Amino acid sequence: MFLENKANRESQKGWIEVIVGSMFSGKTEELLRRLKRAKIAQQKVEIFKPMVDVRYSDDEVVSHDANAIRSTPVESSGNIMLLSGNVNVVGIDEAQFFDDGLANVCHQLANQGIRVIVAGLDMDFKGKPFGPIPSLLATAEYVTKVHAICMRCGDLAQFSHRLSDEEKLVVLGEKGDYEPLCRCCFLKANS
Ligand SMILES: [Zn+2]
Repeated sequence: MFLENKANRESQKGWIEVIVGSMFSGKTEELLRRLKRAKIAQQKVEIFKPMVDVRYSDDEVVSHDANAIRSTPVESSGNIMLLSGNVNVVGIDEAQFFDDGLANVCHQLANQGIRVIVAGLDMDFKGKPFGPIPSLLATAEYVTKVHAICMRCGDLAQFSHRLSDEEKLVVLGEKGDYEPLCRCCFLKANS
């Protein structure tokens, strides 16, 4: 029997998936891959991102095929709760910029039978755990760590090295602002 194109959550079990990695590791692509598959299966999908991420215009269609998914910028994690009625799957991108309430919101959604897929940076440019991501990593059912390629040696990279002297934590990733580095090259760059 075909699922109707609406949320039918009574019999559905929820859980949390987390996708983390450095800049240029393909986190968003992996998030979109999973969300597109859910859309093909007629599931209702919503994707949210923090309003701080102003690189894209509001409501931009983040992919351009027939299964395009719009992402909604929200001010705080509480807004995700309010906007997630009648969905099967919630995607959250750039999750590191959300407030500390994010993990709690994700658990509430999962408890209601929603599949929650969170993508974000696990470390800031100094290599420190980033915002609400550590508690999500600890409490999610599934964790995927994706890697970029080190710009200096070609090994797998897990650090996002900032090329400018800007000390602010939230500096959005434009090309040229960051380079993905492996442990060895990150240590050298910061010594
Ligand atoms: Zn390297």
